[in-house]
Amino acid sequence: MTAFWTEPDFDDHEMVHFVRDAKAGLTAIIAVHSSHLGPGAGGTRFWHYPNPKDGLRDALRLSRGMSYKNAMAGLPMGGGKAVILADEARTKTPELLAAFGDAVEALGGRYVTAEDVGISEADMVAVAKRTQHVSGLPVEGEGAAGGDPGPFTAHGIYLGIKAAVRHKLGKDSVAGVHVAVQGTGSVGGGVARLLAADGAKLTLSDIREESANALAKELGAETVASEAVLSTPCDVLSPNALGAIFDDDTIPALQAEIVAGGANNQLARAGHGAKMFERGILYAPDYVINAGGIVSVASEYLARRDGTVCGRSDVLDRIGHIPTRLEEIWQESDASKTSPDVVADRMAQALIGRG
Ligand code: NAD
Repeated sequence: MTAFWTEPDFDDHEMVHFVRDAKAGLTAIIAVHSSHLGPGAGGTRFWHYPNPKDGLRDALRLSRGMSYKNAMAGLPMGGGKAVILADEARTKTPELLAAFGDAVEALGGRYVTAEDVGISEADMVAVAKRTQHVSGLPVEGEGAAGGDPGPFTAHGIYLGIKAAVRHKLGKDSVAGVHVAVQGTGSVGGGVARLLAADGAKLTLSDIREESANALAKELGAETVASEAVLSTPCDVLSPNALGAIFDDDTIPALQAEIVAGGANNQLARAGHGAKMFERGILYAPDYVINAGGIVSVASEYLARRDGTVCGRSDVLDRIGHIPTRLEEIWQESDASKTSPDVVADRMAQALIGRG
């Protein structure tokens, strides 16, 4: 492997830690991009990468994303991410999780972990037996903060969509506003339910058609084939499935006034935000609107670390700041004629002392 600091995604990361425990079957990379605002926080991805270099690229890219996300959410946390390089059969054993917990503990709190793709709450419980620098654990007691971040992410996106509708369409309510939702999983399903309760008109789509159909029946919504959702005529397109969906082909075909959803890394590359901006489409930068989950995860960790109590209502109050942050970005974007993704990146870089 070439030196990691010559990788295109290397951005003066403070720490890139390679872990190998052959006996436990663990190969992992833990990256901390910035600890300017606090310990590097971000989930652990468990994924099989045919080329290990792609795992390194993910760790570098995703940890930088977490620096930006945590900073823009006003959290006293830096940005970090761990990637466990799974074998082809994705073998996950108690020994592997224990060895990973030991590796996190050895960093003495410079990195705080939680769930990401391929890692469950039960896995985090196993990791927590070996390290205290972990979050996303089952909630203890009514009204306590923590647990599955999905509903908190959905709540932030719902508030962000309402803010976008106010900014772009001048409406104080989403009643009658047509929202096309891509992905009806944990986040997209939650967003759809919240919007339906406010009387929005919904079109749902999922590659698992049975998921979209069941939710459509529950909410009295329409469905559309997954190939067609990005070009569905609507007021708001809310992508809550995969990343890199907005590119040279999909942006010209968009028929939405607003793009606001929770999927990470929606823009295929830098420059696609500008393309959307040129088309007059209002974009809610993904890492700003989808920060509700990390607000919950970080609040849970800080409360446990400091021996204090953080309730669900405190977390919801903090998530309530997401629309304010989005409005700041859009106002600056309007004033400077710069796309919102670029404005958000600049704000985040200034907050982590890299402006
Ligand atoms: P999930 O697995 O529960 O749901 C994703 C859904 O998208 C699935 O139902 C899947 O079938 C569907 N899907 C996949 N490809 C699709 C396509 N091409 N068209 C339509 N549907 C498709 O995952 P989730 O937790 O809801 O996360 C959704 C997105 O939000 C991901 O990009 C994730 O990284 C991001 N995100 C999630 C959280 C969280 O708290 N869960 C936080 C921040 C960001």
